[in-house]
Amino acid sequence: MAQDYYDVLGVQRGASQDDIKKAFRKKAHELHPDKGGDANAFKRVNEAYQVLGDEKKRATYDRFGHAAFQGGGGPSGFGGFDMNGINMDDLGDLGDVIGSMFGFGGGGRSRAHRGRDAETTVTVSFLDAVKGTRQSVATRLQARCAHCQGKGAEPGSKTATCSQCRGAGKYAQTQRTPFGMIQSVVTCSACHGSGSVPEKTCRTCHGTGVYVETRTLDVEIPAGIGDGETIKLTGQGEAAPHQGTSGDLYVHVRVGSHQRFRREGNDVMSDEAAPLTAFLLGGVVAVETVDGRADLSVPPGTRPGTVFKLRGQGIQFLRSRGRGDHLVTLHADMPKKLTREQKKLIDDLKGLGL
Ligand SMILES: [Zn+2]
Ligand SMILES: [Zn+2]
Repeated sequence: MAQDYYDVLGVQRGASQDDIKKAFRKKAHELHPDKGGDANAFKRVNEAYQVLGDEKKRATYDRFGHAAFQGGGGPSGFGGFDMNGINMDDLGDLGDVIGSMFGFGGGGRSRAHRGRDAETTVTVSFLDAVKGTRQSVATRLQARCAHCQGKGAEPGSKTATCSQCRGAGKYAQTQRTPFGMIQSVVTCSACHGSGSVPEKTCRTCHGTGVYVETRTLDVEIPAGIGDGETIKLTGQGEAAPHQGTSGDLYVHVRVGSHQRFRREGNDVMSDEAAPLTAFLLGGVVAVETVDGRADLSVPPGTRPGTVFKLRGQGIQFLRSRGRGDHLVTLHADMPKKLTREQKKLIDDLKGLGL
């Protein structure tokens, strides 16, 4: 048995036309694809709205119930009454959402063309990523036609009013969908919404306003960028045909490894070795950092394997001021072989309880 239309929309029998419209919009919102949009549920809501949203049909429904609308009675229980179709304007923004959800073009607005986003990968050295650099990146992308400035018309040729849309740039189109006829406004395919067509199309791009070209971009790689991060270059992707907006270019960055340094977050890690005496007696040990040599003060009695922190000598934060630290693990340079003299002195130390 078909569900009561008032129940479907969740309104009282005495609800105003305005309330019914509001209830319909709310239900349609609930069927947003992100919330697990359900075509059957939408179909029921739409069916109820088509009847209750029309005062004449609503009056008939109030008197005779579903029977008045089920003469034809197809398997869906949907046939048999005049399908006016959904007016997408009743749905506002939802027209697009529902359109994309059920696979037909919705919306009363003409959608501007947008070029595709493109992506490419660059590899930089460890130290270039630390310091920042510029890198040339070759791309082969659809670009705006230079001959016609993307207009698609041969320079100097006249334009004529588009015969397909009579200059309006768009026209109404009726589509059959699982839940009735949908009327929507579509952008004219002959003039791409501009309302006029050139008398002579550009001989370079054949009227599309774009052509594929190889282009070299100078990409700035910011200091501190990490392996696997992406730089977005707005508007540097593919140009859109017919003077649309260009897409974006995403540059994925790979950072090479370094024989001495490793990166952990914004900290640089390294291992260094110092003679045994530096651990016993203390002293200054020279170590390598991303900025060059630095002196490490080793206190007497330091254990081999101690980690020293060089504050602020790590990697530049990408999105704020400041730098990470450099952590040096100091290992003991254990001699494999002792000279006769070293051996004698150490023997003496042994006698002193060391
Ligand atoms: Zn051209
Ligand atoms: Zn047109």
